[in-house]
Amino acid sequence: ATPTAIMVGTGRAAEAGVLFRDGAALQALRGVRLVALDKTGTLTQGRPSLTGAATVEGLAEDEALRLAAGLEGRSEHPLARAIVAAAQGRGLTLAEANGFEAVEGFGVAGRVEGRAVAVGALRYLDRLGVARDPALVARAEADAREGASPVHLVLDGRHVAALAVADPVRPGAREAVASLRARGLAVAMVTGDDPATARRVAADLGIEEVAAGVLPGGKAEAVRRFRAAHGPVAFVGDGVNDAPALAEADVGLAIGTGTDIAVESADVVLMGAAPGALIEAFALSRAVMANIR
Ligand code: ADP
Ligand code: MG
Repeated sequence: ATPTAIMVGTGRAAEAGVLFRDGAALQALRGVRLVALDKTGTLTQGRPSLTGAATVEGLAEDEALRLAAGLEGRSEHPLARAIVAAAQGRGLTLAEANGFEAVEGFGVAGRVEGRAVAVGALRYLDRLGVARDPALVARAEADAREGASPVHLVLDGRHVAALAVADPVRPGAREAVASLRARGLAVAMVTGDDPATARRVAADLGIEEVAAGVLPGGKAEAVRRFRAAHGPVAFVGDGVNDAPALAEADVGLAIGTGTDIAVESADVVLMGAAPGALIEAFALSRAVMANIR
């Protein structure tokens, strides 16, 4: 690989919206055997919306949503934004929260109108020592099989509601996965989300390898595991919790509209339509490296 060819290659890539930090990243991409992708915000649009709500008897759906949104108004998580938007869309006045606490990878907790409220994943209930309501769990599992993310509400130590939040996949994501596989690459999805949700989204996209329910920090560990099984790994992500995996991967590719820390941790930044730019990155790396040898 001559320096000139690499310079030309990275220049051409930049025109196509693929920013390589250096020539080494362009060369490393050629050796990649497996591409691992974050789900939320990378394979999906990252603009989730509320698609369902189930509550225990005696609790109105709007009341559950109002309390959950009161707490989620303090959170930056995409699921939180969907819940707040849904409450506002119904014209509900958000309850005020204090003593707010975000438990990364689990959910959020605090006091709303003097009541103890927690919102998050099913495993958050276990962590809090809150008994699962079997009917709500069944409803959440059904939502997850449809590809929605379940969000559970705990009120004064009781499991009282299961909300469903769906995030459509990005246009072109399925085609991008097919194109990667046509290049002989293995493709995997890595997410902190519910395993049933992840399996459904992966199946819709044609991805057969899934690491779900991954705790913060676990994504980098997943990259090491994939490397041991397949060889060099590219990781594609956008979130704060993707930064360690982007740094750990042989090539880290960040979505340009992602968080600052993801972009800073990456070797390649994908501007424009993410799935298309990813394919462009692989195509350019192959073209350049083939020409120069
Ligand atoms: P990811 O972005 O891959 O889903 P996170 O670590 O951000 O991973 O979150 C993991 C899981 O924790 C989420 O899928 C969700 O179930 C739960 N969670 C985290 N924060 C919140 C929140 N603010 N509201 C509801 N659920 C949350
Ligand atoms: Mg993400």
